[in-house]
Amino acid sequence: MLEIFAKSDKNRNRELPSFANINLMGKCNLKCFFCIGNELKQISEKVGKSISGISQIGEHFSKWKNFLPFLNQTKEMGIKKLYLTGMNTDPAIYKFLPELIDFLKNKGFKVGIRTNGYYRPEGIDKVLASLNGGISYSIHSFNSQINKKIIGTENMPDWTKIIPASGEHVRIATRYNRDDVLNTIKELSKYPNVNYIQLRAICADTNKEIYALDAKAFNDLKKEISKKFSQVETFKGYPVYNIYGKRVSFWDPLQVTVNSHNYFTDGTVSNSYFVTEGYSKEKLLK
Ligand code: SF4
Repeated sequence: MLEIFAKSDKNRNRELPSFANINLMGKCNLKCFFCIGNELKQISEKVGKSISGISQIGEHFSKWKNFLPFLNQTKEMGIKKLYLTGMNTDPAIYKFLPELIDFLKNKGFKVGIRTNGYYRPEGIDKVLASLNGGISYSIHSFNSQINKKIIGTENMPDWTKIIPASGEHVRIATRYNRDDVLNTIKELSKYPNVNYIQLRAICADTNKEIYALDAKAFNDLKKEISKKFSQVETFKGYPVYNIYGKRVSFWDPLQVTVNSHNYFTDGTVSNSYFVTEGYSKEKLLK
């Protein structure tokens, strides 16, 4: 199993970690076909250490293993930016989210979130507005049928209300869908507070073959865009274009140069930006 990671085509020449992730574990409210949680589930079952039952979604963070040492380490590394994200779930679902945000801010961190936007209980806008490190939504299409193919549901949150209520700096992450990416960017261009759109390649360590068409589509799109739109800058080795007035970057997690310090809510800590590899090496393959 370790061999898979060793042979993967990855940029291992990384910068020092400039941010940290808190990866929530549990059940998600979506079923995205590219979810790294699927890959980790398969690896965990292969080695007889299934992660399916692991969930800290309803557990107070004071009970999370290794959490305080991780935060202390993060501080010692000089890292200020912390992102609440999910390994196989959405961090907005976390039961003690408002308390966790306050706790981390009081420790001096800039706290941001990466969420799919589907969990909309009363008061969530206020909770998200309390973040001081920005909100990133994963939006893959505004077309319900395309969305269904990508994330498993044709239902969509009311982005016309959610995005304007999300502060001044909203980032959108989108997995390139072959049919609709320029329409998605065009729709996003209507929102003045969306200041950055990231077109992300699908990140796979062990399921490369099933994503071959998507990997090709990502590279084809890069070529097409470079002909039609002007490049305005380069970020971490990848081109950023001006498309319909928005900064749009291509992002291949396996190839960019950034690095992060990572905590998983079951207590696993990894210094690898590659989530599947990092979690597997620290938790599943020992
Ligand atoms: S929203 Fe995130 S965690 Fe949930 S299924 Fe999609 S990729 Fe996986």
